[in-house]
Amino acid sequence: MLTSDVARKIAPSPTLALNEQARLLRAKGEPVIHLGAGEPKNRAPIAAILGAADKLKEGDVKYTPTEGIPSLRKAIVRYTEDGYNKIVAPENIVVSNGAKQAVWNVLYTILNPQDEVIILAPYWVSYPEMVKMMYAVPVIVTPEDGSFYPRMQDIKQVVGSYTKAIIVNSPNNPSGAVFGKEFMAELVDFCESKGIWLISDDIYHKLIFDGVQWHSPYQFTKKSLEDSRLITINGISKLYGMTGFRIGWSVTPRKLAEVIMNVQAQTTSTATLVAQAAAEGALLGVQSHIDSLRQMLQNNRDVMLNELKAFRGVKCHKPDGTFYCLPDFSAYGTDSVKMCKLLLDKARVVTVPGKEFGMEGHLRLSICGSIKEIKQGVERIKWALDPESPNELFIGDKKLVRDWM
Ligand code: PMP
Repeated sequence: MLTSDVARKIAPSPTLALNEQARLLRAKGEPVIHLGAGEPKNRAPIAAILGAADKLKEGDVKYTPTEGIPSLRKAIVRYTEDGYNKIVAPENIVVSNGAKQAVWNVLYTILNPQDEVIILAPYWVSYPEMVKMMYAVPVIVTPEDGSFYPRMQDIKQVVGSYTKAIIVNSPNNPSGAVFGKEFMAELVDFCESKGIWLISDDIYHKLIFDGVQWHSPYQFTKKSLEDSRLITINGISKLYGMTGFRIGWSVTPRKLAEVIMNVQAQTTSTATLVAQAAAEGALLGVQSHIDSLRQMLQNNRDVMLNELKAFRGVKCHKPDGTFYCLPDFSAYGTDSVKMCKLLLDKARVVTVPGKEFGMEGHLRLSICGSIKEIKQGVERIKWALDPESPNELFIGDKKLVRDWM
């Protein structure tokens, strides 16, 4: 066998694969509408660009300390104090190549083979795959009531002596759900009493709609960070439109941070200095664009829900935040991978199968694009799935044909 057992079993990233398919189709002149994207088209803040440009102008592009440059870690300390009302020290922070690497570093640092990690469905696609990379076991908990809000009773049922960690992601990719105060308080209490790590992936935490309250696990602990079992993951990708800069970080007790540093030192060494300078610029610069982004997304969310309402048989829980919604399309088919393929092949609309997030029968639709894209995208999905639609649809001089029915 050419590859290892564990590597061979890692699923490809569905979102990255779909992006590539869409890019290739667009390059061929196909009228693709992208409702799969996990990034809005907003530009990075000017303070970020200037921060990066300064480093480039000076030719200052050397290695940095593994854990991140001191000025960025200081900016993260301030960010954590402002956003979470939590005082942390630079020694609690390790800056990585995106929140993705921060999650990976943390999992690698805490997991032994066979350890179990509880993942709440619907979940971000990478969590179970990363857990498997550590020869550990993802244990998926799906709310039995069909909602996107996890329940403690379901979690308690699967906790055992192998449970090492629980990953919580609120606001949630892909459902947009923000988990309630009671649940978060109980979860923190439970993890602390059992000595289970609680990893809170907060990457969307300022993109929340309708004044819904977001609750960080820090609010509910009486322990100091050093004694707690709380880990937070954050980054600049989503709030600052800087997905390509690849900067994220973990905040953990110091003892853990020291080991995370060793893990990173022996793998990627450091995040790029230019990107770290950009992240520092973003965190210290004007923050008003986050609210503009939030408002744009809330408006897009309303348009999306309105368009979906006109679609008989599709149910959609109202997202409380993020870039996504996760409507239930099971009335049109239970194989979401097949449905996504069909929508791309026939209607030229990119969607992401719910199966990848542990929610078969659903499709993740992005609200990151323009209102026109959302309206036309949903219209085309309707055309493709509704048996009463005409057989042909003209997009400019392109003809789409639904000849699979
Ligand atoms: N966590 C969640 C829930 C995400 O949705 C994403 C990006 N899609 C990440 C982490 C990774 O973010 P980054 O781009 O900073 O690696």
